Amino acid sequence: MQRIRKSVLFLKLVGYGVRTYYNSAVRRTISAKLAAWLASAPNPNITDADITNIVIVGAAFSGYYAARILATSLPRNGLYRIIVVEPNSHFNFTWVFPRFCVVEGHEHKAFIPYSAEFFSQGPKDLVSWVRDRVETVKKECVVLRSGNEIRYDYLIIATGSTVPGGLPSRAGGEDREGGIERLRAMQARIKNANHLVVAGGGAAGVEVATDAKDHYPDKSVTLVHSRQALMHRFSSGLQAGTADAMTRLGVEVILGEKVDPGSADGNFITLSSGRKIKCDCFINCTGQKPASGVIAELAPHTLTESGHIRVKPTLQIDDDSLPNVYVAGDVAGAHARNPNSRIAARQGEIAADNIVLAIRGKAPSRTYKEEWGDEVIKLTLGLDRSITQFWDGTEELLFPNKDTDLALMCDGAWTALGAKPFEDTGVYTGWAETPTASLKSHSTTPSKMGNA
Ligand SMILES: Cc1cc2nc3c(=O)[nH]c(=O)nc-3n(C[C@H](O)[C@H](O)[C@H](O)COP(=O)(O)OP(=O)(O)OC[C@H]3O[C@@H](n4cnc5c(N)ncnc54)[C@H](O)[C@@H]3O)c2cc1C
Repeated sequence: MQRIRKSVLFLKLVGYGVRTYYNSAVRRTISAKLAAWLASAPNPNITDADITNIVIVGAAFSGYYAARILATSLPRNGLYRIIVVEPNSHFNFTWVFPRFCVVEGHEHKAFIPYSAEFFSQGPKDLVSWVRDRVETVKKECVVLRSGNEIRYDYLIIATGSTVPGGLPSRAGGEDREGGIERLRAMQARIKNANHLVVAGGGAAGVEVATDAKDHYPDKSVTLVHSRQALMHRFSSGLQAGTADAMTRLGVEVILGEKVDPGSADGNFITLSSGRKIKCDCFINCTGQKPASGVIAELAPHTLTESGHIRVKPTLQIDDDSLPNVYVAGDVAGAHARNPNSRIAARQGEIAADNIVLAIRGKAPSRTYKEEWGDEVIKLTLGLDRSITQFWDGTEELLFPNKDTDLALMCDGAWTALGAKPFEDTGVYTGWAETPTASLKSHSTTPSKMGNA
């Protein structure tokens, strides 16, 4: 019976893969080619006020992908413009941060240059790039840290999540060079320590603890987690595999306790029970939160207790007065059990498709519902092995892997994002500059929102 159930799951997985490939590769390529074929020459007399601005806040898995979908799908008559606002100099490839906090020599690979190649199926001049941070979203414009405002007719908020402490979960800054330096500093801290304490038994904590112990078997590594099992939000098989890895490597696990970070004195650190443990290097992998502050002024009622932005199934923000505002990725309160890059990209795709529908005068009809296959994670458990888990909340498929690439095959991510591994091409400036008129107050250029 168990075998039959697993076989059915495996077939579901294959179906999911084929569907995803068809949607993302085949269907999109055909529609991009069709759009290019049908395109008429843009009217040279178009002014900024005639142009519909689609502003995307944040260019990681969700926002960057949404920009790509829009670049291939929007009418090519010169009346549409995609404006991406992103403070980071490079795409931060989060998956490898825990590994590169420990292993030296690969840190530059975590910062993938944004590239025009990623949009190469679309026409030139459709995507403008603004290296800045959105401070707040208003009804018809976003206000940037620089003080500029960009008017929008449609908006995608794809700001993801953030942690106050930066590494190992986030780079802790906006430029590549600073990120590389911080990774090297973390490697040195770990190398020079004897008693490492890692807080947080989610993926980042588990990966950094197992890598550190595998790389430096003579150091003591303790992983402290407030729940009763590591990886508690995942399937029981993955939890068991994680616990086995801790035993195999000799990582001490303390469950049901929290660490008081302020208590670290260079020799000891104190847990919530009052227990003191040896610690000369504390690594905090807790505290990740949705980066939803940009909407706090305009629509505070859409913020959930966890800090996510509540959305409708179409990924429009859950506020009927803002039908042209979409939210996608980690920041969206879209009921994803374990948010990940695949879900973020799929939500970016859905938001982009719905904007194209609205522009064509149709009601946004694509909806996000968690699918079997969304819930995938490849969890490293030391330098040479990992488990890939597929799970639908009840049934799981686990694939234990032997890994040989210390850089976790991140060259594949570079290629998928249109970059040549591992050639840094610097800070991306985009195909087209943002016209100054779009940077003025929105009141001069009224919104041309379609039937949203
Ligand atoms: C350590 C770690 C390992 C992970 N490993 C995996 C894995 O193996 N597989 C997997 O599928 N997922 C993994 N994840 C999860 C995955 O990284 C996230 O689900 C994914 O990055 C979410 O993408 P996103 O586009 O929603 O947001 P994010 O990746 O958080 O990106 C948000 C973007 O928005 C920008 N931004 C934020 N605020 C603003 C603003 N105010 N104005 C303008 N821009 C802004 C940021 O600079 C950033 O570029 C991991 C996460 C971590 C932390």
